[in-house]
Amino acid sequence: RPTIGVLALQGDVAEHQRVLDTLDVHTVKVLSPEHLDTVDGLVIPGGESTTMSKLAVRYGLLEPLRKRVRAGMPAYGTCAGMIMLADRILGGTADQETVGGIDMTVRRNAFGRQTESFETGVRIGALDGGPFDAVFIRAPWVEEVGPDVTVLGAVPGPDEAGRIVAVRQGGLMATSFHPELTGDARIHRLFVDIVKGLA
Ligand code: GLN
Repeated sequence: RPTIGVLALQGDVAEHQRVLDTLDVHTVKVLSPEHLDTVDGLVIPGGESTTMSKLAVRYGLLEPLRKRVRAGMPAYGTCAGMIMLADRILGGTADQETVGGIDMTVRRNAFGRQTESFETGVRIGALDGGPFDAVFIRAPWVEEVGPDVTVLGAVPGPDEAGRIVAVRQGGLMATSFHPELTGDARIHRLFVDIVKGLA
């Protein structure tokens, strides 16, 4: 059984743990570099990316996270976690740091005021069984991706243009939405398969 960490600096940590606990993995909260050393893969939850960035620096986790991701540790980021895995962000604060790893530009709070929160079905490449019921909460979207990034899903933005909301690059995966909130474990299961080297 692989050990999956949930970065527990801030955000909806317990919800991710609850989903992971239904899968065949050992789950731990990651709050220190020592915890990080014990995990085979890491989930970075939703929350507030500016706060998460500050706390990662304060807990001495930013550099260790960058190092593990560079060394190939699989990671899955949702919403604020997607922002943390982005090489480039738009609409961040001046001192906002990311872990990086996915060659993409992510725009924070992209969907705008009319649509701060919404729920919609998203067809996710690589998932069987119909569209994924996706909850978006002050969500980012992916504005641009590099050549090694696979787009897994998109939704119409406020201007009806298609906006990327799910991506994968090697062992790294990110979604703008919150699959930990809707009781559908397919995306977490895909991540566990990535950690096990099966996907
Ligand atoms: N808007 C938040 C941020 O920029 C992300 C929201 C979320 O994770 N639900 O960090």
